[in-house]
Amino acid sequence: MNHKSIPILMYHNIDPTPIGTATRGLNVRPKLFRSQMWLLKKLGYKGLSMTELQPYLTGKKQGKVVGVTFDDGYKNNLIHALPILKKFNHSATCYIVSQKIGGINEWDIEKGIPENPLMSEDEIRKWINGGMEIGAHTQNHIHLSNCDIEVAKKEIQQSKSDLERRFNCPIDHFCYPYGDYNNEIVNMVAKAGYKTATTVRKGRVNNKENLLELPRVAIRNRAIFPIFFIKLGNNLY
Ligand SMILES: [Zn+2]
Repeated sequence: MNHKSIPILMYHNIDPTPIGTATRGLNVRPKLFRSQMWLLKKLGYKGLSMTELQPYLTGKKQGKVVGVTFDDGYKNNLIHALPILKKFNHSATCYIVSQKIGGINEWDIEKGIPENPLMSEDEIRKWINGGMEIGAHTQNHIHLSNCDIEVAKKEIQQSKSDLERRFNCPIDHFCYPYGDYNNEIVNMVAKAGYKTATTVRKGRVNNKENLLELPRVAIRNRAIFPIFFIKLGNNLY
């Protein structure tokens, strides 16, 4: 395995029941998630939140690490992922849509994707108190490159301040909804003071990567054991 590039795993739902065909690919069953987290540990890897991962991304620290991220802030992350992460001593970052806390995935509904509950304020506190981290995923899960500049700026800046105020912790990490961004959006994210931002571009992070355009490795339910292993160690997927 090439230790010079670091995978950042991207998860959405950790859920035993397939919510619908449209989301099936984004659901990972808890049993499988457990096997993946076990395997990481077995191979000597530590799963890290973005804050803990950052020194490895910049080359300040060396080690066998992977980033672990969850998009959108689903309630099933707290119920199914948190106990497993804790059991295997990994940490993770969950990207929260700051104006949808306690709501549902409204942005998916028109695509025919069924409703899926998001963590409430109390549940996000439990996630944080469980040793995990939160990051920002805009206020309303919008397409940032496809809206008014002022709206994009507000969504980027205020999702940070919404979460900082509500949870009284620094929010240093951002994730572009739909992986949608351009140079102007990256500049806004930098100006807002975020230290890292993740995309849906496939790949592992090498030492030349811009911290505000980080690629990730999508883990879907079809990522059975051997495939998960290959995804961890190989850029050719
Ligand atoms: Zn999202």
